[in-house]
Amino acid sequence: MGGPKVYLDFTEEQQMIAQMAREFAEREIAPLDEDYDFNRPLTNPEYKEIWSRLQPAFANVISDMDLSDLDFIAIGLFVEEIFKANPSLVCTVGMALAPAGMIYMYGNEEQKERFVPPILAGRKIGCTAITEPDVGSNPAAIQTTAVREGDSYIVNGTKTWISNGSISDVVALICRFSDGDDLSMGTLMVDREESPYETNELPHIGLKAFPTSELFFTDCPVPAANRLGGGNPGRGKGSKGLSMVFQGFEYARTLLALGSVAIAQASFEYATAYAKERKQWGKYLGEHQLIQEMITDMSVSIETARFLVYRALSLIQAKKRCEREASMAKFYATEMAVEVTSKAIQIMGANGLSDEFPLERLFRDARMLTIPDGTTQIQKLIVARCHLGLGAFS
Ligand SMILES: Cc1cc2nc3c(=O)[nH]c(=O)nc-3n(C[C@H](O)[C@H](O)[C@H](O)COP(=O)(O)OP(=O)(O)OC[C@H]3O[C@@H](n4cnc5c(N)ncnc54)[C@H](O)[C@@H]3O)c2cc1C
Repeated sequence: MGGPKVYLDFTEEQQMIAQMAREFAEREIAPLDEDYDFNRPLTNPEYKEIWSRLQPAFANVISDMDLSDLDFIAIGLFVEEIFKANPSLVCTVGMALAPAGMIYMYGNEEQKERFVPPILAGRKIGCTAITEPDVGSNPAAIQTTAVREGDSYIVNGTKTWISNGSISDVVALICRFSDGDDLSMGTLMVDREESPYETNELPHIGLKAFPTSELFFTDCPVPAANRLGGGNPGRGKGSKGLSMVFQGFEYARTLLALGSVAIAQASFEYATAYAKERKQWGKYLGEHQLIQEMITDMSVSIETARFLVYRALSLIQAKKRCEREASMAKFYATEMAVEVTSKAIQIMGANGLSDEFPLERLFRDARMLTIPDGTTQIQKLIVARCHLGLGAFS
Protein backbone atom coordinates (compact mmCIF):
# COMPACT_ATOMS: atom_id res chain seq x y z
CA MET A 1 0.00 0.00 0.00
CA GLY A 2 1.01 3.66 -0.07
CA GLY A 3 3.18 5.63 -2.43
CA PRO A 4 5.21 4.91 -5.52
CA LYS A 5 7.53 1.89 -5.17
CA VAL A 6 10.50 3.18 -7.12
CA TYR A 7 13.78 4.48 -5.81
CA LEU A 8 14.98 7.22 -8.09
CA ASP A 9 16.59 9.40 -5.51
CA PHE A 10 13.61 11.72 -5.19
CA THR A 11 14.43 14.91 -3.31
CA GLU A 12 12.81 15.58 0.06
CA GLU A 13 10.67 18.24 -1.56
CA GLN A 14 9.48 15.82 -4.26
CA GLN A 15 8.59 13.24 -1.63
CA MET A 16 6.64 15.89 0.25
CA ILE A 17 4.67 16.67 -2.91
CA ALA A 18 3.85 12.95 -3.29
CA GLN A 19 2.68 12.82 0.33
CA MET A 20 0.56 15.97 -0.12
CA ALA A 21 -0.90 14.50 -3.33
CA ARG A 22 -1.91 11.31 -1.49
CA GLU A 23 -3.64 13.30 1.22
CA PHE A 24 -5.20 15.58 -1.39
CA ALA A 25 -6.58 12.59 -3.31
CA GLU A 26 -8.10 11.11 -0.14
CA ARG A 27 -9.49 14.43 1.09
CA GLU A 28 -10.65 16.14 -2.12
CA ILE A 29 -11.01 13.59 -4.92
CA ALA A 30 -12.35 10.41 -3.30
CA PRO A 31 -15.39 12.21 -1.73
CA LEU A 32 -16.47 13.50 -5.19
CA ASP A 33 -17.79 9.96 -5.85
CA GLU A 34 -20.68 10.76 -3.52
CA ASP A 35 -21.75 13.89 -5.41
CA TYR A 36 -21.20 12.94 -9.06
CA ASP A 37 -22.00 10.01 -11.29
CA PHE A 38 -18.67 8.97 -12.80
CA ASN A 39 -20.33 6.18 -14.81
CA ARG A 40 -21.29 8.59 -17.61
CA PRO A 41 -19.57 11.53 -19.32
CA LEU A 42 -19.38 14.64 -17.17
CA THR A 43 -21.41 17.59 -18.45
CA ASN A 44 -19.97 21.07 -18.98
CA PRO A 45 -21.56 22.55 -15.79
CA GLU A 46 -20.56 19.48 -13.74
CA TYR A 47 -16.93 19.79 -14.82
CA LYS A 48 -16.92 23.51 -14.01
CA GLU A 49 -18.41 22.86 -10.59
CA ILE A 50 -15.86 20.12 -9.83
CA TRP A 51 -12.95 22.28 -11.01
CA SER A 52 -14.13 25.24 -8.92
CA ARG A 53 -13.97 22.89 -5.89
CA LEU A 54 -10.62 21.38 -6.85
CA GLN A 55 -8.74 24.37 -8.22
CA PRO A 56 -7.98 26.14 -4.90
CA ALA A 57 -6.91 22.81 -3.40
CA PHE A 58 -4.73 22.07 -6.45
CA ALA A 59 -3.15 25.52 -6.14
CA ASN A 60 -2.53 24.80 -2.48
CA VAL A 61 -0.86 21.44 -3.16
CA ILE A 62 1.41 22.74 -5.90
CA SER A 63 2.15 26.07 -4.23
CA ASP A 64 5.52 24.72 -3.09
CA MET A 65 6.62 24.22 -6.68
CA ASP A 66 8.40 27.12 -8.31
CA LEU A 67 6.24 27.71 -11.39
CA SER A 68 9.00 29.62 -13.19
CA ASP A 69 11.03 26.41 -13.20
CA LEU A 70 8.62 23.48 -13.11
CA ASP A 71 9.73 20.27 -11.42
CA PHE A 72 8.39 17.60 -13.81
CA ILE A 73 9.32 14.74 -11.46
CA ALA A 74 7.24 16.33 -8.69
CA ILE A 75 4.39 16.87 -11.13
CA GLY A 76 4.70 13.19 -12.09
CA LEU A 77 4.48 12.08 -8.46
CA PHE A 78 1.46 14.31 -8.01
CA VAL A 79 -0.31 13.04 -11.15
CA GLU A 80 0.39 9.39 -10.25
CA GLU A 81 -1.33 9.76 -6.88
CA ILE A 82 -4.42 11.57 -8.13
CA PHE A 83 -4.73 9.25 -11.15
CA LYS A 84 -5.07 6.35 -8.73
CA ALA A 85 -8.00 8.08 -7.05
CA ASN A 86 -10.08 8.80 -10.20
CA PRO A 87 -8.56 8.12 -13.67
CA SER A 88 -11.56 9.51 -15.63
CA LEU A 89 -11.53 12.78 -13.77
CA VAL A 90 -7.77 13.27 -14.12
CA CYS A 91 -7.99 12.66 -17.89
CA THR A 92 -10.82 15.20 -18.16
CA VAL A 93 -8.95 17.84 -16.14
CA GLY A 94 -5.65 17.19 -17.95
CA MET A 95 -7.18 17.50 -21.40
CA ALA A 96 -9.22 20.57 -20.38
CA LEU A 97 -6.04 22.38 -19.34
CA ALA A 98 -3.76 21.11 -22.17
CA PRO A 99 -4.50 23.93 -24.67
CA ALA A 100 -3.32 26.45 -22.06
CA GLY A 101 0.14 24.83 -22.20
CA MET A 102 0.15 24.98 -25.99
CA ILE A 103 -0.80 28.69 -25.99
CA TYR A 104 1.73 29.37 -23.25
CA MET A 105 4.47 27.87 -25.44
CA TYR A 106 3.45 29.07 -28.88
CA GLY A 107 0.95 31.93 -28.48
CA ASN A 108 1.58 35.69 -28.63
CA GLU A 109 0.99 37.94 -25.62
CA GLU A 110 -2.57 38.79 -26.65
CA GLN A 111 -3.51 35.12 -27.14
CA LYS A 112 -1.96 34.23 -23.76
CA GLU A 113 -3.93 36.96 -22.01
CA ARG A 114 -7.16 36.03 -23.70
CA PHE A 115 -7.18 32.23 -23.51
CA VAL A 116 -4.92 31.05 -20.68
CA PRO A 117 -6.55 32.57 -17.54
CA PRO A 118 -10.13 31.38 -18.32
CA ILE A 119 -8.85 27.86 -19.07
CA LEU A 120 -6.82 27.65 -15.86
CA ALA A 121 -9.70 29.11 -13.83
CA GLY A 122 -12.07 26.52 -15.33
CA ARG A 123 -14.37 29.13 -16.91
CA LYS A 124 -13.50 27.59 -20.27
CA ILE A 125 -12.98 23.89 -20.92
CA GLY A 126 -10.29 23.14 -23.48
CA CYS A 127 -9.77 20.32 -25.97
CA THR A 128 -7.20 19.53 -28.68
CA ALA A 129 -8.50 18.29 -32.04
CA ILE A 130 -6.26 16.40 -34.46
CA THR A 131 -7.97 13.07 -35.30
CA GLU A 132 -10.51 12.92 -38.14
CA PRO A 133 -12.79 10.13 -39.40
CA ASP A 134 -10.25 9.17 -42.10
CA VAL A 135 -7.11 10.29 -40.28
CA GLY A 136 -5.93 8.54 -37.11
CA SER A 137 -2.35 7.34 -36.82
CA ASN A 138 -1.04 9.64 -39.55
CA PRO A 139 -1.84 13.22 -38.47
CA ALA A 140 0.15 14.64 -41.40
CA ALA A 141 -2.83 13.69 -43.61
CA ILE A 142 -5.45 15.85 -41.90
CA GLN A 143 -8.07 17.40 -44.15
CA THR A 144 -9.81 20.05 -42.03
CA THR A 145 -9.26 23.39 -43.78
CA ALA A 146 -9.03 27.00 -42.62
CA VAL A 147 -9.34 29.28 -45.64
CA ARG A 148 -8.47 32.96 -45.21
CA GLU A 149 -11.25 35.46 -45.91
CA GLY A 150 -10.39 39.01 -44.79
CA ASP A 151 -9.76 39.03 -41.03
CA SER A 152 -11.10 35.51 -40.56
CA TYR A 153 -10.49 31.88 -41.44
CA ILE A 154 -13.46 29.84 -42.63
CA VAL A 155 -13.16 26.37 -41.12
CA ASN A 156 -14.63 23.20 -42.63
CA GLY A 157 -14.07 19.64 -41.44
CA THR A 158 -14.93 16.93 -38.92
CA LYS A 159 -12.82 15.85 -35.95
CA THR A 160 -13.43 12.65 -34.02
CA TRP A 161 -12.52 10.97 -30.72
CA ILE A 162 -11.71 14.37 -29.25
CA SER A 163 -11.25 14.31 -25.47
CA ASN A 164 -13.70 16.76 -23.84
CA GLY A 165 -15.08 17.71 -27.29
CA SER A 166 -18.75 17.72 -26.28
CA ILE A 167 -18.17 19.83 -23.16
CA SER A 168 -15.50 22.07 -24.69
CA ASP A 169 -15.68 25.87 -24.81
CA VAL A 170 -12.42 26.26 -26.71
CA VAL A 171 -10.62 24.00 -29.21
CA ALA A 172 -6.96 23.95 -30.20
CA LEU A 173 -7.81 22.90 -33.75
CA ILE A 174 -5.07 21.37 -35.89
CA CYS A 175 -5.92 22.17 -39.47
CA ARG A 176 -4.57 22.89 -42.93
CA PHE A 177 -4.34 26.61 -43.64
CA SER A 178 -4.99 28.18 -47.01
CA ASP A 179 -3.65 31.68 -46.70
CA GLY A 180 -2.28 33.10 -49.93
CA ASP A 181 0.85 31.09 -50.75
CA ASP A 182 0.97 29.56 -47.29
CA LEU A 183 -0.59 26.06 -47.23
CA SER A 184 0.93 24.94 -43.94
CA MET A 185 -0.53 22.93 -41.14
CA GLY A 186 -1.00 24.62 -37.80
CA THR A 187 -3.22 25.41 -34.85
CA LEU A 188 -6.23 27.70 -34.64
CA MET A 189 -7.85 28.52 -31.30
CA VAL A 190 -11.62 28.25 -31.78
CA ASP A 191 -13.83 29.82 -29.12
CA ARG A 192 -17.23 28.12 -29.19
CA GLU A 193 -19.17 31.28 -28.24
CA GLU A 194 -17.55 33.33 -30.99
CA SER A 195 -17.39 30.51 -33.59
CA PRO A 196 -20.12 27.94 -32.85
CA TYR A 197 -19.49 24.28 -33.74
CA GLU A 198 -21.59 21.15 -33.23
CA THR A 199 -20.56 18.07 -31.22
CA ASN A 200 -21.71 14.50 -30.70
CA GLU A 201 -20.69 12.27 -27.79
CA LEU A 202 -19.04 8.86 -28.55
CA PRO A 203 -19.60 6.30 -25.76
CA HIS A 204 -16.70 3.94 -24.98
CA ILE A 205 -15.59 0.95 -22.87
CA GLY A 206 -13.82 2.67 -19.95
CA LEU A 207 -12.94 6.04 -18.38
CA LYS A 208 -16.70 6.56 -18.43
CA ALA A 209 -16.74 10.11 -17.03
CA PHE A 210 -14.23 11.30 -19.63
CA PRO A 211 -16.08 12.64 -22.71
CA THR A 212 -14.81 11.74 -26.20
CA SER A 213 -16.65 13.34 -29.10
CA GLU A 214 -17.06 14.29 -32.71
CA LEU A 215 -16.72 17.98 -33.65
CA PHE A 216 -18.34 19.40 -36.77
CA PHE A 217 -17.18 22.64 -38.41
CA THR A 218 -19.30 23.92 -41.31
CA ASP A 219 -18.26 27.27 -42.79
CA CYS A 220 -17.28 28.26 -39.26
CA PRO A 221 -15.66 31.75 -39.15
CA VAL A 222 -12.72 32.11 -36.74
CA PRO A 223 -10.77 35.39 -36.25
CA ALA A 224 -7.39 35.20 -38.03
CA ALA A 225 -5.83 36.58 -34.82
CA ASN A 226 -6.58 33.19 -33.18
CA ARG A 227 -3.92 31.40 -35.22
CA LEU A 228 -1.09 30.15 -32.99
CA GLY A 229 2.49 30.84 -33.96
CA GLY A 230 1.57 33.03 -36.94
CA GLY A 231 2.34 31.68 -40.41
CA ASN A 232 4.34 28.44 -40.34
CA PRO A 233 5.58 27.91 -43.87
CA GLY A 234 5.77 24.34 -45.09
CA ARG A 235 3.22 21.61 -45.35
CA GLY A 236 2.75 17.97 -44.44
CA LYS A 237 5.15 16.15 -42.16
CA GLY A 238 7.86 18.79 -42.17
CA SER A 239 5.71 21.76 -41.23
CA LYS A 240 6.45 23.63 -38.03
CA GLY A 241 2.73 23.54 -37.19
CA LEU A 242 2.87 19.78 -36.92
CA SER A 243 6.19 19.68 -35.06
CA MET A 244 4.48 21.93 -32.46
CA VAL A 245 2.07 19.04 -31.92
CA PHE A 246 4.71 16.29 -32.04
CA GLN A 247 6.83 17.92 -29.34
CA GLY A 248 3.74 18.16 -27.10
CA PHE A 249 3.21 14.41 -27.66
CA GLU A 250 6.37 13.56 -25.68
CA TYR A 251 4.94 15.01 -22.48
CA ALA A 252 1.38 13.79 -23.17
CA ARG A 253 2.60 10.23 -23.84
CA THR A 254 4.68 10.20 -20.66
CA LEU A 255 1.69 11.36 -18.60
CA LEU A 256 -0.58 8.70 -20.14
CA ALA A 257 2.07 6.11 -19.31
CA LEU A 258 2.12 7.42 -15.75
CA GLY A 259 -1.68 7.12 -15.59
CA SER A 260 -1.36 3.49 -16.68
CA VAL A 261 1.19 2.85 -13.92
CA ALA A 262 -1.26 4.35 -11.41
CA ILE A 263 -4.16 2.19 -12.65
CA ALA A 264 -1.98 -0.95 -12.53
CA GLN A 265 -0.72 -0.05 -9.05
CA ALA A 266 -4.28 0.42 -7.77
CA SER A 267 -5.35 -2.99 -9.13
CA PHE A 268 -2.19 -4.62 -7.71
CA GLU A 269 -2.88 -3.23 -4.24
CA TYR A 270 -6.48 -4.43 -4.40
CA ALA A 271 -5.55 -7.93 -5.57
CA THR A 272 -2.76 -8.41 -3.01
CA ALA A 273 -5.09 -7.34 -0.17
CA TYR A 274 -7.71 -9.82 -1.43
CA ALA A 275 -5.12 -12.63 -1.71
CA LYS A 276 -4.29 -12.10 1.97
CA GLU A 277 -7.95 -12.29 3.05
CA ARG A 278 -9.63 -15.07 1.04
CA LYS A 279 -8.94 -18.74 1.73
CA GLN A 280 -9.33 -21.70 -0.66
CA TRP A 281 -8.18 -25.29 0.07
CA GLY A 282 -7.67 -24.23 3.68
CA LYS A 283 -5.06 -21.56 2.97
CA TYR A 284 -4.90 -17.97 1.81
CA LEU A 285 -4.96 -17.41 -1.96
CA GLY A 286 -1.62 -15.69 -1.49
CA GLU A 287 -0.12 -18.95 -0.20
CA HIS A 288 -0.78 -20.75 -3.51
CA GLN A 289 2.36 -20.69 -5.65
CA LEU A 290 0.64 -19.82 -8.93
CA ILE A 291 -0.99 -16.79 -7.29
CA GLN A 292 2.46 -15.79 -6.00
CA GLU A 293 3.79 -16.04 -9.55
CA MET A 294 1.12 -13.58 -10.74
CA ILE A 295 1.89 -11.18 -7.88
CA THR A 296 5.61 -11.27 -8.76
CA ASP A 297 5.01 -10.77 -12.49
CA MET A 298 2.64 -7.88 -11.82
CA SER A 299 5.03 -6.10 -9.47
CA VAL A 300 8.01 -6.44 -11.85
CA SER A 301 5.99 -5.07 -14.77
CA ILE A 302 4.66 -2.12 -12.76
CA GLU A 303 8.09 -1.16 -11.50
CA THR A 304 9.70 -1.51 -14.94
CA ALA A 305 7.04 0.79 -16.39
CA ARG A 306 7.52 3.27 -13.54
CA PHE A 307 11.27 3.44 -14.22
CA LEU A 308 10.63 4.09 -17.92
CA VAL A 309 8.15 6.87 -17.07
CA TYR A 310 10.37 8.67 -14.56
CA ARG A 311 13.35 8.38 -16.90
CA ALA A 312 11.33 10.18 -19.61
CA LEU A 313 10.23 12.76 -17.04
CA SER A 314 13.81 13.33 -15.94
CA LEU A 315 14.78 14.05 -19.57
CA ILE A 316 11.88 16.51 -19.86
CA GLN A 317 13.10 18.03 -16.60
CA ALA A 318 16.58 18.42 -18.13
CA LYS A 319 14.91 20.16 -21.13
CA LYS A 320 16.06 17.37 -23.46
CA ARG A 321 14.02 15.77 -26.25
CA CYS A 322 12.81 12.28 -25.29
CA GLU A 323 10.91 10.93 -28.29
CA ARG A 324 12.32 7.39 -27.89
CA GLU A 325 11.99 7.29 -24.09
CA ALA A 326 8.41 8.70 -24.09
CA SER A 327 7.32 6.18 -26.74
CA MET A 328 8.96 3.30 -24.82
CA ALA A 329 7.19 4.38 -21.63
CA LYS A 330 3.84 4.86 -23.40
CA PHE A 331 3.58 1.50 -25.12
CA TYR A 332 5.15 -0.52 -22.32
CA ALA A 333 3.10 1.06 -19.51
CA THR A 334 -0.26 1.07 -21.30
CA GLU A 335 0.04 -2.58 -22.42
CA MET A 336 1.37 -3.51 -18.98
CA ALA A 337 -1.70 -1.97 -17.29
CA VAL A 338 -4.05 -4.08 -19.46
CA GLU A 339 -2.16 -7.21 -18.47
CA VAL A 340 -1.81 -6.34 -14.79
CA THR A 341 -5.47 -5.35 -14.31
CA SER A 342 -6.45 -8.59 -16.08
CA LYS A 343 -4.24 -10.64 -13.73
CA ALA A 344 -5.71 -8.78 -10.75
CA ILE A 345 -9.17 -9.89 -11.92
CA GLN A 346 -7.88 -13.46 -12.23
CA ILE A 347 -6.65 -13.39 -8.63
CA MET A 348 -10.09 -12.31 -7.43
CA GLY A 349 -11.93 -15.01 -9.43
CA ALA A 350 -15.56 -14.20 -10.24
CA ASN A 351 -15.52 -11.27 -7.83
CA GLY A 352 -12.95 -9.63 -10.10
CA LEU A 353 -15.55 -9.49 -12.85
CA SER A 354 -18.24 -7.97 -10.66
CA ASP A 355 -19.04 -4.26 -10.67
CA GLU A 356 -19.36 -4.56 -6.89
CA PHE A 357 -15.54 -4.36 -6.84
CA PRO A 358 -13.26 -1.78 -8.57
CA LEU A 359 -11.21 -4.20 -10.69
CA GLU A 360 -13.54 -4.50 -13.67
CA ARG A 361 -13.55 -0.67 -13.90
CA LEU A 362 -9.75 -0.46 -13.63
CA PHE A 363 -9.46 -3.08 -16.40
CA ARG A 364 -11.80 -1.10 -18.67
CA ASP A 365 -9.98 2.15 -17.85
CA ALA A 366 -6.59 0.57 -18.64
CA ARG A 367 -7.91 -0.73 -21.97
CA MET A 368 -8.60 2.84 -23.12
CA LEU A 369 -4.98 4.00 -22.98
CA THR A 370 -3.18 1.85 -25.59
CA ILE A 371 -4.89 3.88 -28.35
CA PRO A 372 -4.71 7.67 -27.74
CA ASP A 373 -1.66 9.85 -28.42
CA GLY A 374 -0.32 7.19 -30.79
CA THR A 375 -1.20 3.49 -30.59
CA THR A 376 1.16 0.81 -29.28
CA GLN A 377 2.15 -0.04 -32.85
CA ILE A 378 3.00 3.59 -33.67
CA GLN A 379 5.13 3.91 -30.49
CA LYS A 380 7.05 0.74 -31.46
CA LEU A 381 7.72 2.17 -34.93
CA ILE A 382 9.03 5.38 -33.34
CA VAL A 383 11.38 3.46 -31.01
CA ALA A 384 12.71 1.36 -33.91
CA ARG A 385 13.18 4.49 -36.06
CA CYS A 386 15.25 6.07 -33.26
CA HIS A 387 17.51 3.00 -33.16
CA LEU A 388 17.76 2.32 -36.88
CA GLY A 389 17.59 5.80 -38.31
CA LEU A 390 15.18 4.19 -40.80
CA GLY A 391 11.45 4.96 -40.73
CA ALA A 392 8.60 2.54 -41.45
CA PHE A 393 6.31 5.53 -42.05
CA SER A 394 6.17 6.48 -45.72
C1 LIG B 1 -9.62 7.85 -25.04
C2 LIG B 1 -9.20 8.52 -26.30
C3 LIG B 1 -8.96 9.87 -26.29
C4 LIG B 1 -8.57 10.52 -27.47
N1 LIG B 1 -8.39 11.88 -27.43
C5 LIG B 1 -8.06 12.53 -28.57
C6 LIG B 1 -7.91 13.97 -28.56
O1 LIG B 1 -8.10 14.62 -27.54
N2 LIG B 1 -7.58 14.57 -29.74
C7 LIG B 1 -7.38 13.86 -30.89
O2 LIG B 1 -7.09 14.48 -31.90
N3 LIG B 1 -7.52 12.52 -30.93
C8 LIG B 1 -7.86 11.84 -29.80
N4 LIG B 1 -8.02 10.47 -29.81
C9 LIG B 1 -7.83 9.73 -31.06
C10 LIG B 1 -6.52 8.97 -31.10
O3 LIG B 1 -5.43 9.86 -31.15
C11 LIG B 1 -6.58 7.99 -32.29
O4 LIG B 1 -7.60 7.06 -32.00
C12 LIG B 1 -5.25 7.30 -32.51
O5 LIG B 1 -4.29 8.19 -33.02
C13 LIG B 1 -5.38 6.11 -33.49
O6 LIG B 1 -6.10 6.45 -34.61
P1 LIG B 1 -7.31 5.51 -35.09
O7 LIG B 1 -8.16 5.23 -33.90
O8 LIG B 1 -7.94 6.18 -36.24
O9 LIG B 1 -6.66 4.16 -35.53
P2 LIG B 1 -5.98 3.82 -36.94
O10 LIG B 1 -4.94 4.83 -37.28
O11 LIG B 1 -7.04 3.56 -37.94
O12 LIG B 1 -5.25 2.46 -36.59
C14 LIG B 1 -5.95 1.19 -36.52
C15 LIG B 1 -4.93 0.10 -36.20
O13 LIG B 1 -3.90 0.09 -37.20
C16 LIG B 1 -2.63 0.24 -36.61
N5 LIG B 1 -1.78 1.03 -37.51
C17 LIG B 1 -2.02 2.25 -38.05
N6 LIG B 1 -0.98 2.65 -38.77
C18 LIG B 1 -0.05 1.67 -38.69
C19 LIG B 1 1.27 1.49 -39.21
N7 LIG B 1 1.88 2.43 -39.95
N8 LIG B 1 1.93 0.33 -38.93
C20 LIG B 1 1.37 -0.62 -38.14
N9 LIG B 1 0.13 -0.51 -37.61
C21 LIG B 1 -0.56 0.63 -37.88
C22 LIG B 1 -2.89 0.96 -35.29
O14 LIG B 1 -1.86 0.73 -34.35
C23 LIG B 1 -4.20 0.32 -34.86
O15 LIG B 1 -3.94 -0.91 -34.25
C24 LIG B 1 -8.40 9.78 -28.66
C25 LIG B 1 -8.65 8.40 -28.66
C26 LIG B 1 -9.04 7.76 -27.50
C27 LIG B 1 -9.30 6.29 -27.53
